[in-house]
Amino acid sequence: MNPIYLDYAATTPVAPKVAEAMAQCLTEEGNFANPASRSHVYGWRAEEAVEAARGQVAALINADAREIVWTSGATESNNLALKGLCRPGDHLIVSSIEHKAVLDVALWLKEQGIEVDFVEPTADGTILPERIEALLKPNTRLVSVMWVNNELGTVNPIADISALCQKAGVLLHVDAAQALGKLPIDLDALKVDALSLSAHKCYGPKGIGALYVKRSPNIAVQAQIHGGGHERGMRSGTLPTHQCVGFGLACELAGQVLTEETSRISKLRDRLWQSIRDLPGVRLNGEGAERVCGHLNVAFTGIDGEVLLLSLRQLAVSTGSACTSASMSPSYVLNAIGLSAADALASIRISLGRYTDADDIEQAAAHIRQVVLGLQGGKQPRRA
Ligand SMILES: *Cc1c(COP(=O)(O)O)cnc(C)c1O
Repeated sequence: MNPIYLDYAATTPVAPKVAEAMAQCLTEEGNFANPASRSHVYGWRAEEAVEAARGQVAALINADAREIVWTSGATESNNLALKGLCRPGDHLIVSSIEHKAVLDVALWLKEQGIEVDFVEPTADGTILPERIEALLKPNTRLVSVMWVNNELGTVNPIADISALCQKAGVLLHVDAAQALGKLPIDLDALKVDALSLSAHKCYGPKGIGALYVKRSPNIAVQAQIHGGGHERGMRSGTLPTHQCVGFGLACELAGQVLTEETSRISKLRDRLWQSIRDLPGVRLNGEGAERVCGHLNVAFTGIDGEVLLLSLRQLAVSTGSACTSASMSPSYVLNAIGLSAADALASIRISLGRYTDADDIEQAAAHIRQVVLGLQGGKQPRRA
């Protein structure tokens, strides 16, 4: 029997309708042409499909289609935003619990002569505007804070951070890879200068994302990939029609089901937590913070993390983040919110999504109880 997939924060399967639409853009009978071909109807049709998809992505975040730049994913979007907006001598503030696709870019920029400061989260895993404010300098150019943390699912107060940045006259970039399709995003109401998106966290294909860039005279993003001048010069390269169409439709579908889906998933997630929380040594990481619907990051104090993960054979889950789990080093996010190395190593991230049902949760809860009680040598559950 296959393990139950509870790793939606790492990636999601492509929605069947999305896969179907993508398949229509590949073969000779389909919409296969180069969207930049201006001299024939095949090219016009491909361009039309790409532009319709751009509108679908823009609609989900209440932006203008002209503010969407296609990229290969949130990693590239983050690179484009940070490298494209910071110049030598500028000061950049990023949170210390960003995805590596922001942190590693910040460290690289530091080597290139950009001043970088890191904001630490609170013990519940959120980034407070006052901590950002304390780091502002006259040469601060950009603040980069993720909307939702990928390990904890905690939601940062982006509206407050946006107000602070506006008051201080600094640019704000938000990595929204984990927020898209899980939280309403309204960039008409909320001033963000650049926002990174990824399709594969939202039932679209891997290998495509977008960077929202606010249309404003004082925002000029320098291209990181040159050649051909696509995407108004910000990102060259032939657009992959099938990928754009897939991302666009995934966004449209996500918008249609957002309210119903997030409420259904958070009920299942809460049920799972209620059925394991009395186990000895169990603690919810990021407890007390606002969290998105599908995330559950749990420390099983006293259990060896590697043994725990190997024992939970019936579940497909993560330790730390998938990107660092190739090496068994404790998660820097859990470390930043104050967990010991042992507790961080004994933590797992369980993330639910669109295709998770009540049966999955019942089985997962029973399996976790059996494994954890077994590994703890028959200690009795605490009664709440
Ligand atoms: C997944 C993820 C990324 C990377 O996105 P890709 O599209 O896989 O490059 C960046 N930031 C966060 C918060 C993520 O969850």
